[in-house]
Amino acid sequence: MTERLRLIQGDITHVTADAIVNAANSSLGGGGGVDGAIHRAAGKELLAECLTLGRCPTGQARITRGYRLPAAHVIHAVGPVWQGGKHNEDALLASCYRNAFALMEKHGLRTVAFPSISTGIYGFPIERAAPIALREIRAALEQRPELEQVTVVLFSEKDLKVYQQALGV
Ligand code: ADP
Repeated sequence: MTERLRLIQGDITHVTADAIVNAANSSLGGGGGVDGAIHRAAGKELLAECLTLGRCPTGQARITRGYRLPAAHVIHAVGPVWQGGKHNEDALLASCYRNAFALMEKHGLRTVAFPSISTGIYGFPIERAAPIALREIRAALEQRPELEQVTVVLFSEKDLKVYQQALGV
């Protein structure tokens, strides 16, 4: 399985894949962090398409084209805001990954890159988020043989190390 899952440090807007995942907010109207970077790189057509989609509840995901990104599609997943850990945050985070994979299946997509959803502005502790993300990714790779590659793109070396440790590498 390991060759189908890779962890890299970098900027997700530079990744070529069938889809990259955006850590979006419910408005789908763009924001800071990776969301802002994706919208800047994709161009204003991305916001125009997002605004046709309406609101996206926490834990769910929506798909658009990638416009000027090297990725063909963007899957906008809305992670939970950390509220101390007893407000269903773990399940809502897992749901983002599961719904992203469901959209990939629906659209026949085989390669995807994820950022570390919710662990920036939304404040989810990365040490707790990484095992949840990796558990869902591994489950999808087991259940979906059509998935060719899942890349987790960590923005900092520290974040990469947390994911590597959670993966056991
Ligand atoms: P959230 O609101 O879901 O917490 P953020 O965008 O604030 O989303 O942060 C999610 C993660 O994405 C953080 O680890 C942040 O460092 C990272 N990040 C920010 N910009 C990029 C980028 N261009 N590529 C990959 N990861 C990024």
